Amino acid sequence: MNSKSKFFTGLVAAAAIGIAGAASASGEPNAPGAHVHGAGALNVVVEGNDVIMELTLPGADVVGFEHKAESDKDAQAVHEALEKLENAANVFVLPAAAGCAVVEAHAESSLVEETEAHGHANENRHEAEHEAGHGDFGAIYEFTCATPDALKDIEVKLFVLFPSLEEVDVQAVTAKGQWAKELTPSDNRFLLAF
Ligand SMILES: [Zn+2]
Repeated sequence: MNSKSKFFTGLVAAAAIGIAGAASASGEPNAPGAHVHGAGALNVVVEGNDVIMELTLPGADVVGFEHKAESDKDAQAVHEALEKLENAANVFVLPAAAGCAVVEAHAESSLVEETEAHGHANENRHEAEHEAGHGDFGAIYEFTCATPDALKDIEVKLFVLFPSLEEVDVQAVTAKGQWAKELTPSDNRFLLAF
């Protein structure tokens, strides 16, 4: 990851913490980062022309297991899933009018050993997940959009990619404020511009 990505990852995390704090104050039951099978999380930050989306999915829904991929078959399944996730067009449909281009799309999973370049910042999180017997997939997407005001209908295709997924909790921060929406297979779209 380059320094810009690290900056944005931090931004997304900070924004998510801000939203989670507000949510718990209002009695929302979902703890930040809770690992629930069937439920994914998508944090979105829009800043000027930049759109950053950070996705977390349970291994159970992506590949059907959450243990370390030790057999060739399991490792293959994880790598295929990572490749699917790293193609942003598999995951999101952004309105053509917004003129968005993918700047970066990167996926990783705690089910496979991470390379030197990855994972140090997330070590504590991964250790916590391993202790609980759970594993997940994470992906971060950076888009630059010529006309962010046209981001009025973003489709999330994760329910097609991973049929056991029942909900994706979106938390977004834009210049207009912050909001949350629970996406489901029958309501898989959200707006970033109003
Ligand atoms: Zn799990």
